Amino acid sequence: MIQRDYLVIGSGIGGASVCEGVRKHDKRGTITIVGAEIMPPYNRWLLSKDFLREKTPPLKKLAHFDQRWFDSHKIETRFATIVKQFNIERRLAVLGNGESIEFTKACLAMGSRPVRPPVAGVNLGNVIYLRTVRDALALREMASIERTVMVIGGGLLACEAAASLRMMKLKVTMMHRNAYLLNRYLDSQTGPWLTDYYAKHGITMLIGESLNGFEGKTVLRNIQTKSGNRVPAGLAIVACGAEPNLDLVRNTPLSGPHGSPVTEYLETEEKGIFAVGDLAFYPDRIMGGVRRQTHWENARAQGLIAGANMTGKKRIRYEQVPYFWTEMFDLRLHFVGDFSMQPTRVDLRGTYAKKKFLARYYQGEKLRAILLCNQTEREVESAKKELRQALGK
Ligand SMILES: Cc1cc2nc3c(=O)[nH]c(=O)nc-3n(C[C@H](O)[C@H](O)[C@H](O)COP(=O)(O)OP(=O)(O)OC[C@H]3O[C@@H](n4cnc5c(N)ncnc54)[C@H](O)[C@@H]3O)c2cc1C
Repeated sequence: MIQRDYLVIGSGIGGASVCEGVRKHDKRGTITIVGAEIMPPYNRWLLSKDFLREKTPPLKKLAHFDQRWFDSHKIETRFATIVKQFNIERRLAVLGNGESIEFTKACLAMGSRPVRPPVAGVNLGNVIYLRTVRDALALREMASIERTVMVIGGGLLACEAAASLRMMKLKVTMMHRNAYLLNRYLDSQTGPWLTDYYAKHGITMLIGESLNGFEGKTVLRNIQTKSGNRVPAGLAIVACGAEPNLDLVRNTPLSGPHGSPVTEYLETEEKGIFAVGDLAFYPDRIMGGVRRQTHWENARAQGLIAGANMTGKKRIRYEQVPYFWTEMFDLRLHFVGDFSMQPTRVDLRGTYAKKKFLARYYQGEKLRAILLCNQTEREVESAKKELRQALGK
């Protein structure tokens, strides 16, 4: 039996940052990180961007921490294996490779996985879900053979993948059941502008259409829509959202309908067990309410804080303004604040035509969010400050 002071489950950016946070405050404690993927933690966000588009896959750019980083920080790694049993009472984890680890403190950082829509043909060849470097390598390969692709969804991942594939000169169609792209985040002027921008870049838009199923014997041939259309396609990317990887702790207090519930210190109701990143359902001390974010900076910052808190030498609250960025064609969009409700008023500075603007989203008189298009990092930081000030935080 292996005994460890700290066990980190999941080796994405959340898990990697937990290790960093622990080591900053505890130089000697024993740590093991377990990760399902074969690669050490990498920049997942690149997969729908440069990683797809560049001639040879930029593997060097992808690395966040390599094995040497873990070795030099005296952190033991178990990559390409999973934690398959997690006994909360006995503080014991059983790994897919047969090892058992008894731990004092643990952090859940298992992230999320693509939602598989409940329709026929979701497992056919050439129907791709983009989450891991293996998925991205497969997509690159298929995109070099197939010249037509259907992207299903109109969220962040769908928009990024569609833009990249179009930049790679593929014939791209997007199927999106809502009225405009990024409808979960954008207002009713910016959303249609973006949708039109995609159409102008030669992407065929099937707006208001939903997926009914995939057809083909072993490999995709056609895509059926709910309205009865049948669209020929050699390749499909399904980007219909991500759900938290909570199977390991299902039916325990560590798993809830919206993620793994944690306190403002990122600790679950089981003392000494923390959760971060895509699966943490946390109280938002800035915007109010409780939320789960599926974005890079959130996982990174939460990992660092949870790691520090796990050592018992620090007690830091997670209180960051919700924030993420995305890139599509020549647009870099930054989202600062809470975009979960349609604004009642939008104050737009700049123009869509110049592709450079800043839009303040209000609920009544209250500023709730700021959208920035092609603005500098400095402007993003001042938007965060402005929002904090407006909220009196
Ligand atoms: C293609 C793509 C592009 C993106 N682009 C952006 C972007 O531009 N901006 C942005 O803000 N965000 C972006 N994101 C989202 C961002 O990457 C995630 O929010 C972030 O990776 C979450 O980090 P995490 O560590 O919580 O989870 P993950 O990155 O999902 O890592 C979790 C890891 O845990 C492993 N795991 C799961 N179960 C177990 C188990 N039982 N045992 C061991 N290991 C396990 C998983 O295999 C995975 O390796 C993008 C995501 C994707 C897929």
